[in-house]
Amino acid sequence: MSDCLFCRIAAGSIPSQKVYEDDEMLVFRDIAPARPVHVLLIPRKHIASLASVTPEDAPLLGRMLARANAIAIAAGSPDGFRLIINTGWIGGQEVPHLHLHIIGGPNPVGPMLKRSEE
Ligand code: 5GP
Ligand code: ZN
Repeated sequence: MSDCLFCRIAAGSIPSQKVYEDDEMLVFRDIAPARPVHVLLIPRKHIASLASVTPEDAPLLGRMLARANAIAIAAGSPDGFRLIINTGWIGGQEVPHLHLHIIGGPNPVGPMLKRSEE
């Protein structure tokens, strides 16, 4: 059994609130949602982050992106959403299995990032 948290969620050995799944990807609710709609779209294949994708992964990544709007609508964000892909420690990635945060809800998500001094 993998010791990767999201591989275990994909395998069903750790429970999650799934909102979509097919043979190559899975979408489930974030355990600590930042907005009313906050789901995580992951590939079933273990890819640690965007920093470790290969050219062979590009079609899968394309299908994940192409699925995001339908997921957002089904999850309750019909008029747009924000995708976030934290990558590596600079990006604040906490779980080392590639995931797209799909964030939205009835109200605007808000400013993208606060501007820092540096
Ligand atoms: P990251 O910081 O790696 O981009 O985002 C990881 C996300 O996974 C966080 O938003 C966090 O709330 C979520 N998360 C962490 N552990 C679990 C879990 O066990 N189940 C679910 N559904 N989400 C989790
Ligand atoms: Zn994994």
